[in-house]
Amino acid sequence: MSKLASYAADPAQSRGRKFTESDPQGRNQFQRDRDRIIHSSAFRRLEYKTQVFVNHEGDLFRTRLTHSIEVAQIGRAIARNLNLHEDLVEGIALAHDLGHTPFGHAGQDALNECMREFGGFEHNLQSLRVVDLLEQRYAEFDGLNLTFELREGILKHCSLNNAKTLGDVGKRFINKQQPSLEAQLTNLADEIAYNNHDVDDGLRSGLITLEQLEQVTLFASNLNAVRQQYPTLSGRRLIHETVRRMINALVVDVCQQSQANITKANPANIDEVRINPMLIGFSPEMREQQTELKRFLRANLYQHYRVNRMSAKAQRIVRELFEVFMNDVTLMPDDYQKKGQTDQDKARAVADYIAGMTDRYAIREYQRLFTVAEREL
Ligand code: MG
Repeated sequence: MSKLASYAADPAQSRGRKFTESDPQGRNQFQRDRDRIIHSSAFRRLEYKTQVFVNHEGDLFRTRLTHSIEVAQIGRAIARNLNLHEDLVEGIALAHDLGHTPFGHAGQDALNECMREFGGFEHNLQSLRVVDLLEQRYAEFDGLNLTFELREGILKHCSLNNAKTLGDVGKRFINKQQPSLEAQLTNLADEIAYNNHDVDDGLRSGLITLEQLEQVTLFASNLNAVRQQYPTLSGRRLIHETVRRMINALVVDVCQQSQANITKANPANIDEVRINPMLIGFSPEMREQQTELKRFLRANLYQHYRVNRMSAKAQRIVRELFEVFMNDVTLMPDDYQKKGQTDQDKARAVADYIAGMTDRYAIREYQRLFTVAEREL
């Protein structure tokens, strides 16, 4: 870290934690954040939460845990290249999906729908809620008491109404400012990671084919490069050689374009980063290719009828769980019930309980509540 840029986030200059603590020994403030995230129970649950494929469909598909680790890997590579703080990037990457519901976006959409009258449900905000409130491990505070910079990085987007309720981390949405460069780049690392692993998992599942992907510029150009170098290569190795080149091309592009943006804007420090426009980004040509790939994945993978069938089932589970707990909160563990809860409080507690579930826990909970085993009679 000796070359840390003047505009990088500096743990010694952190805006601090909500509850004051003594300085960590032998590690910096951002390392402490990262370490707390790894030891949290929400982090362990990422292993059994879905990205696109439901967890039990196969051992080779990504889960939210492996996704988060891939985001950390890509993010750290970019951070090191740009002389930004790797520990902060790693912490944001490992925490960014902690608030995800079971069953990926299908689960989140269903829960958001259930919560419509009660302020909605948004996974980004929920990730912040997990680290600010829901983790209960420390004697002196709820949550993990992370630094402002880590919390700012988790909150990628947020409605104005919600921003007003969030205090310091909400302010930038009201003032239309940017977060640190570390937060900006982790956001792009997330995008690079999921586009590429969804290509890989999509091919492995057989839901999309190599022939289809040859219509996508970014994939086709890298596939051709592999074929030129290894004319007889086929199968998994051909796919992997293509995907690794895609990731590399995207990372190199982000580093070059962002360095050029930073040099031009010349921010003296992190406060000047915040009042500049977004400085981390792809070149216009690469942004176009990324968009084309995203569009392809949306049409051919995320809306594949077999994925739709799984999503519909997942949404039914989430909706019915929500309904049954809203009607009778005493069916939830004691921690989620409080005396004198308003409907609003009740709905939020139900959402917290459901959002915390892994895919398999939600399925089992559904079975426990809606089916009767013979031995129970
Ligand atoms: Mg993600």
